[in-house]
Amino acid sequence: MVTFGVSLAGWKAVNGYHFLNMMGRMPTLILVVFSFCATLLLTRAINNFGLSTWRRSRAKHWTLRARLLYPIRITAGLSMLILPADIYLLASSLLPSVPAWAPAGSSLLAALLGTYWPSREIFPETTFREWLTSRLMILLGRVIPFALFLWATVTMPENFGAETWMIAGLLFLLLATLRLGGTIRFFSLLGLLKPADKRLAGIAADVARRMNVQPRRIWMVPGAFANAYALPLNRELFFSEGLLRHLSDAQIAAVTGHELAHLTEPRRVLFLRLMQPVILFPLVLIRPLIATGGNGLMWAGGLLAVTLIVRTRFRRLGRHMEVRADAIASVNEGEEAAYAQALQRLYEVNQMPAVMSGRRRIHPNLYDRLAAAGITPDFPKPDPPQRYTLMSILLCLSPFAISFALAVRTNNSPHTKVHAGAGGDVTFPAPRLGAGGVQDK
Ligand SMILES: [Zn+2]
Repeated sequence: MVTFGVSLAGWKAVNGYHFLNMMGRMPTLILVVFSFCATLLLTRAINNFGLSTWRRSRAKHWTLRARLLYPIRITAGLSMLILPADIYLLASSLLPSVPAWAPAGSSLLAALLGTYWPSREIFPETTFREWLTSRLMILLGRVIPFALFLWATVTMPENFGAETWMIAGLLFLLLATLRLGGTIRFFSLLGLLKPADKRLAGIAADVARRMNVQPRRIWMVPGAFANAYALPLNRELFFSEGLLRHLSDAQIAAVTGHELAHLTEPRRVLFLRLMQPVILFPLVLIRPLIATGGNGLMWAGGLLAVTLIVRTRFRRLGRHMEVRADAIASVNEGEEAAYAQALQRLYEVNQMPAVMSGRRRIHPNLYDRLAAAGITPDFPKPDPPQRYTLMSILLCLSPFAISFALAVRTNNSPHTKVHAGAGGDVTFPAPRLGAGGVQDK
């Protein structure tokens, strides 16, 4: 009996503790759910508003529609980064008792999810699964190297010792491994990549024989965006399922010609391609360099300048290689004009502008690529698309507006800090966060 009494009391105590603990975590949980819903609604509203003009242009030529869509895509991309940052700013200032990364993380998830509906509108044949896998691949492909780089930069000691060079060496090794097929192996282990099916393998084998260039492997990548690319260092080719859905066999063969041409790049270019992901690598030493002061600062500045110059040189070289691959593809196309038709179809399916502003892009404009392939496009040369919309400018300004409003608020209410610190959990000011979040967009 005694045991029972004790255990009952213990149970009550434990349960009471759990209850209080849960209550303590409630604000975080509510805030996470609230940020998710608010971001999802806001993203959908922003995208719907942007897409409304594009929807009304159904009767127009695809090049004009692609021009309209471009700034909407930029805005959607910006909102994916800026809305979670806004939430982070608001949460860390208004609710210091709640870890701000939690609502910001849920906001990021919602912002990513919010791009599903516009994707479905542009690519009606895509499924949720296909959309999710392609997003996951883009995210992992970019996030993993960036996270490694960030980890190394932050953990780097402030002086040049054995540890500094060990971290730098480890980072270099990891980045090079990813570059030399590590990312592909990782994706294929996760089951995200599929080997070429019978149709693609057959088409590619034909072109490879004709051009006398053998790829090591050919992969099919999930994703509605019609695209193909080559990794010249690994001699591997990738074709998106969107491309395979929309292009004829002759057009796929012509695209294969372009990708195989990348495998015949001069050794000097291949070496530079190997070095490409490590151009930012020296920046990992920025912390010890700055801490050293004087000469170190000069070195850090020099390093930054060299990185920028090398980056520009890489882009120029990349562009030369694209022009070269286009020329080789045109010569090796099996059917007359198949390459030009394939290019046009790719841009049309993806609703990408035929002409872009700026000369720093790796791929030349479609309009110029068609002319180079000996085809006069059957549409007038469109103007480059607008880059920014009123919405994207407002989005970019929102973190500054929020910071300003928060600074004014702190100056006007000397008790804010004490109040939020003492009872932040109990007085959860969700409505204020919501109103601020919406007003400032
Ligand atoms: Zn290319």
